[in-house]
Amino acid sequence: MHKKIRLLISISILGLLALSGIQGYLINNTYKLEKTAFISETKKSISRLDDLSPKLDGINETLRDNFLNLIADYYVKKITKKQVLETMNAYSDSINRFYITSYEKELKEKEIGYDLKFQKIVNTIIVLDTTGIKNDTIFSSTKTPSFHLLGHKFSREEGHEVSNSLWLTDHDFNREVDGKMTSIIFNLQLETEDRMNIDGWEKIVLGRMASLLFISIGIFLLVFGLLFYSIKSLITQKKIADIKTDFVNNITHELKTPLSTLTLATKMLQNDEMIVVSPRSKGIVSTIERQNIRLQKLIDQVLNNSLGYQEIQLHKEIVPTQEYLKLIIDDFQLSLDSKKIKINKNIKIKEQISIDKFYFTTAISNVLENAVKYGKERVEINVSATFDGAFVLSISDNGIGIPKNEVPFLFDKFYRVGNKEVHNVKGLGLGLYYTNQIIKAHQGKIEVKSEENSGATFTITIPSNN
Ligand code: ADP
Repeated sequence: MHKKIRLLISISILGLLALSGIQGYLINNTYKLEKTAFISETKKSISRLDDLSPKLDGINETLRDNFLNLIADYYVKKITKKQVLETMNAYSDSINRFYITSYEKELKEKEIGYDLKFQKIVNTIIVLDTTGIKNDTIFSSTKTPSFHLLGHKFSREEGHEVSNSLWLTDHDFNREVDGKMTSIIFNLQLETEDRMNIDGWEKIVLGRMASLLFISIGIFLLVFGLLFYSIKSLITQKKIADIKTDFVNNITHELKTPLSTLTLATKMLQNDEMIVVSPRSKGIVSTIERQNIRLQKLIDQVLNNSLGYQEIQLHKEIVPTQEYLKLIIDDFQLSLDSKKIKINKNIKIKEQISIDKFYFTTAISNVLENAVKYGKERVEINVSATFDGAFVLSISDNGIGIPKNEVPFLFDKFYRVGNKEVHNVKGLGLGLYYTNQIIKAHQGKIEVKSEENSGATFTITIPSNN
């Protein structure tokens, strides 16, 4: 497998991984948002349940009165801090069953649609000294876990806060101090918190995201499947293309040997006066020779075209540009049998050029041959060459031209323009491909300008330091 395909596969896999990462990140963010929305929605529906229900409010009231009386007892040192908490605990335990049943009834009426646990906890109880100097902490959740007052029991980590309240009020009680009824006043700071625990909230949130998750996974699988399929097809096609190229190369090589023997045999026939006597036989032999040469040319073309420009081994030499070009054009003109072809030369260069004569001649000949092949009734070719930092050779004709949309593909392997005139002319669509490879091997470039029915101009540029 070639480097390019490996690189393509690696980039595609990396792209897919990056895409999955981004998708995962977005899904996670959506999950967090959904979770926040879900929790605040639930909070909103239950936050004022206590206050709005007369039954629950009544329970809270009684609990509060009880609690304040205990604090008043503590204030006059009738009971200790520990006793305050223990008594509170015992009392809340005794009413908790009733509180939970009443709360659940309220929840049912709200029709929330999922199971919910709730609790009321105490975070701090501080008796504030009226002078404001000495505060007395009865309970603080910073040192011990929160004090469970009402509702279900679950840990802080398992639940979410619904609301919290801070009481800062003065209280007035009558207590017996040293045998006399005395009015006592104390300030109390009481911090409570309502919390909830939604059973299986993760499942509920995921359920709300089901369509998004389903679509995301679907798209991911689709992209993954397409990528896998494309890569597999790419590898298969590459293998088939390699097998085809090998096959064509082998078969053309194999054909060359019998063709050379055939050339030799025809030469012998032509030279042996004894065998070829009649003009008819002479004609037949020269037909065999011509077709043999044509077949050899075609095979050479196919063989040459298996080479990419990196594989072309150039043997460069310095040539006098003007003389060299004139010679090629004159030779080309001699090889044509039609008088209807006119070639105008405008070559006045003094500079020399460093090229591989064999390859470069093939490249120019291909362009000149095409100008004749795809010419109209009277072919006129203009060849001009200039030297301005780089060697620029331009060959233009007055032929059938090339439709604009086909021009970009002209140098592709096996490409032939798809109109009728072209299909009447024999060819393999390899000449320009090979010409381009030769020019590239010389570090130059070949460009074409053409329009249908307006001829074509091929421009070859070779840098002077190639
Ligand atoms: P071939 O001539 O064997 O088909 P080439 O690679 O030489 O292959 O040319 C590719 C195609 O480009 C040709 O089939 C023809 O359609 C088009 N073409 C090339 N040169 C010219 C030209 N001078 N005028 C019009 N069409 C041309």
